[in-house]
Amino acid sequence: MLRPLNYNLNLIYRCPQCQTPYWFSKSEINKGLAFICCGSSHKLAGISDIRVRCYYDQDIDDKVISILRSYGYTLEQIKSIPIEANSTEDYVKQFLASQK
Ligand SMILES: [Zn+2]
Repeated sequence: MLRPLNYNLNLIYRCPQCQTPYWFSKSEINKGLAFICCGSSHKLAGISDIRVRCYYDQDIDDKVISILRSYGYTLEQIKSIPIEANSTEDYVKQFLASQK
């Protein structure tokens, strides 16, 4: 299974007067761009960082889930930590280490 190398996303802004949405990329935003709507110029605040987390549900096998549940973790907690592991044991070890 392939995993993404990178992401490409736009951020959505709204004109405060008419609520029309406008889409901009991070690089457009950081050029000090402003958009004009309703006769006003709306300047966009610069962005230093955007973080995107990918969760791969199918990578957490049932064995990992049952082991971590026996330690008292909920499924939500188990899925909240992105882990790249080669085996069930490795996954459990990394998860437990991330909880300290
Ligand atoms: Zn407008």
